Amino acid sequence: MSDCLFCKIIAGDIPSGKVYEDDDVFAFNDIHPKAPTHVLVIPKLHIPTLADAKDPTLLGMLMDRVNHIANDVLKLEAGYRLVINVREGGGQEVFHLHVHILGGKKLPF
Ligand code: 5GP
Ligand code: ZN
Repeated sequence: MSDCLFCKIIAGDIPSGKVYEDDDVFAFNDIHPKAPTHVLVIPKLHIPTLADAKDPTLLGMLMDRVNHIANDVLKLEAGYRLVINVREGGGQEVFHLHVHILGGKKLPF
């Protein structure tokens, strides 16, 4: 989607600190990290919010890649937190589905 910030990051039109990419997902460092490790994982397909994601296969794929990135790429052995903000009331600011991976310190809940 041409006016989507995260689609522009996937296309390389806006620079990002890429940590992982494959045919289906792109992962990069959050520009305003809320933990020592704060990575965003996004599907390459433009889906505005989790509520718009109707495909269980895509959602399963996304969680599989998040699992791989957190454990094998970022090596967050001590643990981590996953966050998906949904719509304005949930704190979503960028309307391209993304999973936050937060780690690198003990996280208060
Ligand atoms: P949301 O609030 O939508 O769940 O999260 C959006 C996230 O995107 C925020 O944590 C914000 O810091 C991050 N973000 C916004 N603009 C950019 C950008 O241009 N580059 C990167 N790397 N992250 C961004
Ligand atoms: Zn997009």
